[in-house]
Amino acid sequence: MWIRRRLDISWRDLFYGIAQCFIRRKESNCIEGIQRLWPRPENIFPCFSVRTGFDLLLDVLDVPEGSEVIITAVTLPDMVRIIEDHGLVSVPVDITPDTMGCSRESVQKVITPRSRIIVLTNLFGGRFPADDIIDTAKKEGLIVVEDLAQSFSGCIEDGHPKADVSMFSFGTIKTATALGGAVMSVRDPDIRDAMTERYSSYPYQTRRSYLLKLLKYTLLKTATYRMTFGILVVLFNLIRIDYDRCIHKWSRGFPGPGFFGKIRRKPCVPLLALLRRRLNRYDRGRLSDQRSKGERLLSILGENIECPGTKAGNHVYWVFPVCVEKPDDAVDLLRRNGFDATSRHSMYVVPVPEGNKTDAPDEAGRLLAHIVYLPFYPEIPFKEIERMGAFLK
Ligand SMILES: *Cc1c(COP(=O)(O)O)cnc(C)c1O
Repeated sequence: MWIRRRLDISWRDLFYGIAQCFIRRKESNCIEGIQRLWPRPENIFPCFSVRTGFDLLLDVLDVPEGSEVIITAVTLPDMVRIIEDHGLVSVPVDITPDTMGCSRESVQKVITPRSRIIVLTNLFGGRFPADDIIDTAKKEGLIVVEDLAQSFSGCIEDGHPKADVSMFSFGTIKTATALGGAVMSVRDPDIRDAMTERYSSYPYQTRRSYLLKLLKYTLLKTATYRMTFGILVVLFNLIRIDYDRCIHKWSRGFPGPGFFGKIRRKPCVPLLALLRRRLNRYDRGRLSDQRSKGERLLSILGENIECPGTKAGNHVYWVFPVCVEKPDDAVDLLRRNGFDATSRHSMYVVPVPEGNKTDAPDEAGRLLAHIVYLPFYPEIPFKEIERMGAFLK
């Protein structure tokens, strides 16, 4: 059975990370090493996770309590939790399913005198066209934050040049993962300095916890091969454990109580060392393979099935979701034929704040209720991608 996701990290990288936990390196060398890989090194702010960096950013921006943060309606619940923790109000803008972006008109509609920040989330591995939205937002004096956690495609570019901040994640399930870590590109030097200053007082992630994480995923990586995973699924079914739920639970970042304590950390030096190595050696051939497989699957499905986000630009197909009438039936059919599709995911629709007259994000709601994620990564050969597509046509 083809598992839904594979970790985008090799055995060598995992062992390199483990080894780093036992040697000393200078933190500043690792940070500079990461910065140098990007077109404008001075803008680059490596941190522990996107959630850490976003939380830190809201801290230093210090906008008045009760201000509004406009956010594209589909994101991680934690992003909204962070906004609310700062006494701010998140106001959703509905998405346009073909790009998973939003339109300038819908943004214009939700801007009020209390709006201060806009967060543009790019989903599934594409970039939606945002030029006119950013221009409008800037004219209204908003700070523009780009969430590119799912859209890393190499260090050759660091986000939209007109956005104030762009964020890339290297968390466990992301492209080029270092089992944690994130890179923010912060274009205003004052904001950057304030972030650096404040971040210096954060505690470090412990080496021990990072080592345990590396060991855990070294073990789990074994389980992601087609054969091992197939056997595990049979075993889980025999003892009547819902493996779908288990995978979902195990792959969540920062679960359980004490969320803010968990994210407000600096990465340990071994993480920075592994992140530098990952970014430096990232094989763009892998991305182009993934892209051509995505295009092939789209050409098989596109006419008959809604493939959200696929009209976005520079698509690397980080995931390949489809939107179907009966998700459970599609998941069943695919699983019976060796493809571990799932309708379980960790995103949600940003609710309209109480008393706010903004339109409910109906498209976002419809989409998430009907979404099915297909197994999709470069290790699946074209022949299997085509076989999977045939079940959905
Ligand atoms: C993964 C993800 C995040 C969070 O990234 P972390 O580095 O794990 O905090 C934020 N937004 C989106 C859209 C994501 O996919």
